[in-house]
Amino acid sequence: MSSGITLDSIMQAPSPASAWVLATDSAESGLDSEVVLIAMRRRIAEMRDSIRRGLASSAPSITGMVGWNAQGLWDAPDVLNAPLLKRVQAYAMAVNEENARMGRIVAAPTAGSAGTIPGALLGVADHLGLDDEQLVMPMVLAAGVGKAISRQMFISGAAGGCQAEIGSSAAMAAAAVTELLGGSSRACAHAAAMALMNTIGLVCDPVGGYVEVPCVSRNAFFAVHAVSSAQLALSHLESFIPPDEVITAMAQVGRMMPLELRETAEGGLAQTPTGLAVTARMEGAGVNG
Ligand code: SF4
Repeated sequence: MSSGITLDSIMQAPSPASAWVLATDSAESGLDSEVVLIAMRRRIAEMRDSIRRGLASSAPSITGMVGWNAQGLWDAPDVLNAPLLKRVQAYAMAVNEENARMGRIVAAPTAGSAGTIPGALLGVADHLGLDDEQLVMPMVLAAGVGKAISRQMFISGAAGGCQAEIGSSAAMAAAAVTELLGGSSRACAHAAAMALMNTIGLVCDPVGGYVEVPCVSRNAFFAVHAVSSAQLALSHLESFIPPDEVITAMAQVGRMMPLELRETAEGGLAQTPTGLAVTARMEGAGVNG
C-alpha cells in the first residue's frame, strides 16, 4: 500500500471505500490490483487456518500462561445467548494463542494484535454465513486504514504503547466490518476513528515481555471493540473529532508515554508480584521474553 491514503481521504472517497483504496494504491505504487487481491485471499486463508489450529489446541505456551483460553471459551456454554460475541472472542484468542505457541499467524498489523481482525471480520462473516470471497475487499480497506494510521504514528507497542498496536488493529477491523455490512466510505472512516479514540492511553505491559498476558485476552476484547465501532458507524454515529485528528492525538499520547509502559515489562501488569514471579521463573529456566 502506498502512503497517499489517509482516513480523511477514505471518508471522502466514493463508496465502497475498498475500491477507492485499491485503485488509489495501484495508481500510486504501480502494483497490479490483482496481485493485491491474491495476497489478501492468501492472508484470509492463513487467518482461517490459524483460527482452526487455535481452537483445536489447548497446549500451553512456553511460559504456561496461556494456550487453552480459546478452546475453553469455544467449548463452554453460551451463557449470554450471544453467539456472535462468543465467536468473535474465541477466534481472536485462537489466533493469539497460536502466536504464543509460535504457530503461523498473519501479523495484522503486528503479531501481538494478530487476533483482532480475524476475530472481528471472520467472526462476523461466519456468524452471518458469508463467504470468504466477500472478505477480500474489506481486507483491502483494512490494509488501507493501517497504512493511513502508520503515516502519522507508530503501530508497535514498543513505540507507542498498546494503543498503537491494538488500536490500529481495532481500527482496521472496524472499517472492514463496516464495509462488509454495507457501510459507506464515510461510515468506514468513522468506525476506524471511533475504535482508535476509544483505545487512546492503553499501555503495553506484557508479563515477562512475552506476548501473552494481557495480549491474548486483549485481542478478544478489542475484536469486540471493533465490532462495536462498526455497529455505531452503521447506525450513523460519528466521531466528533475528525478521523485524521484522532490519529494525531493518539500519536501525541504515544510520544508522552513513559518507556516503562512501552513493551519494556518495567511497569503495569509486568511489575505485579505475579508478573515478576513469571519473569523470575523464566529467567531461572534460561529463557528470556
Ligand atoms: S500489551 Fe504490548 S505486546 Fe501485548 S498486544 Fe499490547 S502492544 Fe502488543
